[in-house]
Amino acid sequence: MPKYVYSFGSKKTDGRADMKNLLGGKGANLAEMSRLGIPVPAGFTITTDCCNDYFANKARFPKGMKEQVEKALKLVEEEMGMKFGDLANPLLLSSRSGARSSMPGMMETVLNIGLCSKTIPGLIKKTKNERFVYDSYRRLITMYSDVVMEKAEGIEPGEGKGIRVQLDGIMDKLKKSKGYKNDTDLKVEDLKHLCDEYKKRIRKVLGRSFPDEPMKQLWGGIGAVFKSWNGKRAVAYRRIEGIPDDWGTATNVQAMVFGNMGYNSATGVAFTRNPATGDNKFYGEWLPNAQGEDVVAGLRTPNPINEETKNEQNMHLDSLEKAMSKLYRQLYSIQRKIERHYRDMQDIEFTIQEGRLYMLQTRVGKRTGTAALNMAVDMLKERLITEKMAVMRVKPEQLDELLHPIVDPVAEKKAEVLARGLPAGPGGASGQIVFKADDAVEWRKRGKKVILVREETNPEDVAGMRAAEGILTSRGGMTSHAALVARGWGKCCIVGAGMMHVDSVAGKMKVNGKSYREGDIITLNGTKGYVYEGKLGMIDATENPQFQNFMRLVDKYRKLGVRANADTPEDARVARNFGAQGIGLFRTEHMFYGEKSEKPLFLLRQMILSSTLEERKNALGKLYKYVKHDVKATLEAMNGLPVTFRLLDPPLHEFIPQDLEKQRELADSLGISVNEVKKRGEFLHEVNPMMGHRGVRLGITYPEVSEMQVRAIFEAAAGLNKAGKRAFPEIMIPVTCDMNELIEQKKIIDEVYKEVLKKFKIRKINYLLGTMIEIPRACLLADRMAQIAEFFSFGTNDLTQMGFGFSRDDIGEFLGEYLDRRILKADPFQTIDQDGIGQLIDMGVTKGRSTNKNLKVGICGEQGGDPASVKFCNRVGMNYVSCSPYRVPIARLAAAHAAIEEASEGKKTTKNKR
Ligand code: ADP
Ligand code: MG
Ligand code: MG
Repeated sequence: MPKYVYSFGSKKTDGRADMKNLLGGKGANLAEMSRLGIPVPAGFTITTDCCNDYFANKARFPKGMKEQVEKALKLVEEEMGMKFGDLANPLLLSSRSGARSSMPGMMETVLNIGLCSKTIPGLIKKTKNERFVYDSYRRLITMYSDVVMEKAEGIEPGEGKGIRVQLDGIMDKLKKSKGYKNDTDLKVEDLKHLCDEYKKRIRKVLGRSFPDEPMKQLWGGIGAVFKSWNGKRAVAYRRIEGIPDDWGTATNVQAMVFGNMGYNSATGVAFTRNPATGDNKFYGEWLPNAQGEDVVAGLRTPNPINEETKNEQNMHLDSLEKAMSKLYRQLYSIQRKIERHYRDMQDIEFTIQEGRLYMLQTRVGKRTGTAALNMAVDMLKERLITEKMAVMRVKPEQLDELLHPIVDPVAEKKAEVLARGLPAGPGGASGQIVFKADDAVEWRKRGKKVILVREETNPEDVAGMRAAEGILTSRGGMTSHAALVARGWGKCCIVGAGMMHVDSVAGKMKVNGKSYREGDIITLNGTKGYVYEGKLGMIDATENPQFQNFMRLVDKYRKLGVRANADTPEDARVARNFGAQGIGLFRTEHMFYGEKSEKPLFLLRQMILSSTLEERKNALGKLYKYVKHDVKATLEAMNGLPVTFRLLDPPLHEFIPQDLEKQRELADSLGISVNEVKKRGEFLHEVNPMMGHRGVRLGITYPEVSEMQVRAIFEAAAGLNKAGKRAFPEIMIPVTCDMNELIEQKKIIDEVYKEVLKKFKIRKINYLLGTMIEIPRACLLADRMAQIAEFFSFGTNDLTQMGFGFSRDDIGEFLGEYLDRRILKADPFQTIDQDGIGQLIDMGVTKGRSTNKNLKVGICGEQGGDPASVKFCNRVGMNYVSCSPYRVPIARLAAAHAAIEEASEGKKTTKNKR
C-alpha cells in the first residue's frame, strides 16, 4: 500500500522541502517550515501519486487512501485540541492544491470546511463571535459552490454567469442597499441573510444543495483539487508553461486559522525582497480582519507591511509595523530565517489570529528579470549564494526583459500622467486598448499591438495577457493575479490604477471624467506605474552596471562561443556591444533589400538578366564596389574577430522586378526591349525556388558570381591588413550537398586568393573556407565535406525545413493543430527538434570531426538564440552559436547554464559510478 498521506505540524512531520515531486511545492514547504520550528497550523498532504492514481482509477479515490486520511486527521485534531464535526469544539479545515511548481490561481482553495448547521452554534458559543462565524460560513459557501460544485464538475457558465459572480452580486446589492462600503461593514444579520440567499441561489442555479455535512464537505474539497488538475484552465496554463500533464497535484488539508476574527486578526502576503526591483527590503501587503485571498482579490486596498516600503496607493494606511509592532518583529525575523534557509527570495503567506502569528506558505518568489539579476548579484555579495548559483538564478529568457525598451524619459517628462497604479511588470509598452482577453488574442493575430485593460485579471485571461504588449488593471495589489503572472513573464504591467473606472462590458474606461474606448492608444511605464494617453517613444534599457557585472560572471562559466548574425556594419557594432565574439552569419544579399539598396539592386538585376557572360561580367564588375564596401566596413567593425560571409544564397528570380517602371529602366541599361526583360524574367521562373537554382548552385553555373564575391572579401581584408588593421573573414558556401561542390568552389577561391596576394604584395591573408550544413545529405556525408571545409555552420532553418519536409512559409496552416494535439512538442523553427533534426546535427558534427579534427562548428539558424537549443549545441560539442544581436546576452547566459549543468551532471554520474 503506497503512503498517500504525509503529516505536518509541530508534533509530527513526515515531509521535507526536497520532496516537491511527491508533495507539491506547497506541501513540501509547509513540512519544511514545520521542521524549522516555524508556527504552521497542523495538517497533512495527499500526494501527487495519489492524484495520478485517482485519475487512473476512473476519478475514484484509490484504495487505502481513506484510512490514511482519517488517521492523519486524528493527529491534526490532537495537535489543535479540536475535533472535526464536533458540536462544541469544531475544527475547521482548508483544502489547498499544490503542484510541483506554483501555478498562480490555477488551482483552487476552499476555506472553513466543516461549518454547517450542526457546528455553527458550538463555534459561536466558543468564540463568542457570531459575526466571525457567519462571515466564515458565507465564505465557505461561496468558495465551495464555485470550486467544488461548479468548476470541478466542468460546468462552464457564460461570462458573468458563474455562481461566484452571482453570489458576489447578491452581496454587492445588499451592501449598496445598506450603504456599506466594505465587506467588513456587514452585520451579523446581514451575513445570516446572505448565507440563506446564497444557498437558495445555489439550489436554483446548480440544481443541488450545498452540503450540510462536514465529512461530505471535506471529501468534496479534496476531490475538487484533484479534478481541477484536469480543468480547462489548468490544462491551458500547462500548455503555455510546458508543464507535463502527468505531474499531478497534491492536496493539502490544514487546520484553519482565522484572520477575520476582528481587528486584532489579519492576513497578509509578503516577499523577503522586492520582487519588482530586487531591493533587499522586506516587502508586502496585509489586511486587518480579513481572510485568505482578500489581500490579493483587490476588494480593499491592502495596507503596507512596513513604513519603509509604503507607496502612493497605500501611504494613508497603517503598516503592520505600526499597527502590531511585536508581531511584525516576529514576522520579520521569521522571513529572515526562511530566506537564509532557502538561500533565495521567498514569497510568504501569513495569518494573525487574535494576536498570534501563523505561517501558511512559503515558496521561491516570482520576480522580474531586473529583480532576478539584482538579487543574484546582491546575494553573491552577501555570501548567501555561490557564483554558480548566481549565474543559475537568472533565466536566459528573463534577460530579454532587461534588454527591452523603456519609455523614453525625455518624452515622458513632457507627457501628462493619465493614471497611476502599482509598478507590477517593468519596461514600457504602448498599444491599443482592448477590454477582453479574447480580443487581445484576436487583435494580436491581426498584427495589432494591444494593452489589455481589465478591472482585475483572472486565470481565464492568461492567453490574452500573453498576447498583449502590456496589462493594466484598476484593482488589485502587487500580489494580485495580474501582477504575479506579468512578473513571471517579465511583461510590462500596471495594477491597481484605482482612479480608472473600467467597464469591460460596455467596452470603455473613464479617467478623470474623460472616456476611452476600445482601440484608443495608451502607453504604460510599468517600472513606475504611470499610464499615458497616446504613444510615447521607447529607448533601450542597457548599460546597467549590475548587468555588466553579471555578464562578466556568466562569461567566466561559459565554454561555448557566442556570435551574432549581422548583415550591416551597424548590426556588427550592436552585436559587439552585446558581447558577440564574432559574426556567424553575414548575408551578402542584405544589401539588396531596404534602405540604400536601390543602386546595388539595380546592378544585381542587370547581372541576373544578362544573357551573355560579357554582359554579366560587366554588371558584376560594377556591383563589386558595393559588396567590398560592406564587407570591409563589417570586418573593420569586428576588429579581427571572425566574420562569416555567406556567398549569395537566394534564388535569383526573387530579385526580378515586377513593375513596369523598373523593367523599362533595366531594358534601357541593357539595351534590350521591355518584352525581352520580361521574357528573360519568365525564363528564370521556378516552380519550387527554395529548392531550386540557389546557393552554391549559382556558384557552379555562374562561377564569375562567386569569383566577384570572394575577390571583394579578400581585397577588403588585404586592404585592412595593409593599413595595419586586423581582419578575419570566413567564406561560407551555402546549400551544399556534396563534397564536389566544395572542390569546384575552392578552385575559384584559391585562384582569386593568389591574385589578390600578388596585387597587394602580401604573403598571407587569414581566412577560413567552410560551408553551411543545411541539407540532410550534407549531414550524412559530413566526413567528406569536412575534407574540404575548415568549418561547418549548421543552417538549422533549412535543415529543419528539409528534414521535416515542412515549408517554413506555409507552416501556419497546420502547426497550430500539431502543437494543440501534441503531435509535436514545440515549433521546430523556434527551438531545435532535438529528437530528429538533432540527430542530423549530432551526426554532422561527429562525422565532420572524424576526418578533420580541427573542424570549427557553429550554428547560424534562428534557433541559435533559443536557450534550449543553445544547451543542445553545447552538448553536441559545437564551438559557437550565432543569433540575432539582441539575443547575444541570452545565448551567453544559456551557454553558461549549459556548462554549469553539464559539470554538475558529470559529477553526479561519477558519484553514481563510484
Ligand atoms: P494559492 O495556491 O492560490 O496560493 P492557497 O492554498 O495558498 O492558494 O490558499 C488561498 C488563501 O487561503 C491564502 O491566502 C492562504 O493563506 C489561505 N489559507 C489557506 N489555508 C488556510 C488555513 N488553514 N488557515 C487560514 N488561511 C488559509
Ligand atoms: Mg488561489
Ligand atoms: Mg497561497
